[in-house]
Amino acid sequence: MSAQYHIKNFLIFVQSIFFFFSLCGVVQGEMLNNNRWQDVETKYTIIRYQSLEDLEKFDNNIDYYPGEWGLNRLFSSKDFTEKMDNLIKKVDALNLKVQQILDMRKRMKKVSINIYHNKKQLYAAYYKIYGSSCRVRAWYIYEYNTIYINADDVNEGLLAHEMAHHTIDNYLSVRPPRNAAEILAVYVDKHLFDEVKKY
Ligand SMILES: [Zn+2]
Repeated sequence: MSAQYHIKNFLIFVQSIFFFFSLCGVVQGEMLNNNRWQDVETKYTIIRYQSLEDLEKFDNNIDYYPGEWGLNRLFSSKDFTEKMDNLIKKVDALNLKVQQILDMRKRMKKVSINIYHNKKQLYAAYYKIYGSSCRVRAWYIYEYNTIYINADDVNEGLLAHEMAHHTIDNYLSVRPPRNAAEILAVYVDKHLFDEVKKY
């Protein structure tokens, strides 16, 4: 076989590699445009995210490491599975603390936590649901059993506040008036790091 033949084959091979990678680019682009959601299920929640980058931002912004476990975070792992395990533990621990503060412990349907990429995407979701402009940083909808938050602008207090809305609305057989629920939810995020009071 001539050298030319080999070169031609080699060129076809290189072309097909480029073609393959350009296809990957298209697929990835489509995924972002269609906002493909992925789930991580924890004991109390279903965390829904669109990219690992968003999930990582969410993880970094939630500063909640109760008890002795707090010491372990100094040796935080780079390993993906371990990171995911820690995130799951953290979110469940936060939800448990919310229920302890409220003294409202009951088996409830897992709440979905929709993580949006940024403020723009969160606001677009709000507009799609309510048909009006968004003025809040996060919210919870009882009918969808879902918390809506922005990966760029979330913290443990904000997430605990929305988790409190979920707990309050699902614990009582009759949902309390909105103002009463808000007072309770605010109490939860303000006292997240206090010892749980027993009355
Ligand atoms: Zn609220």
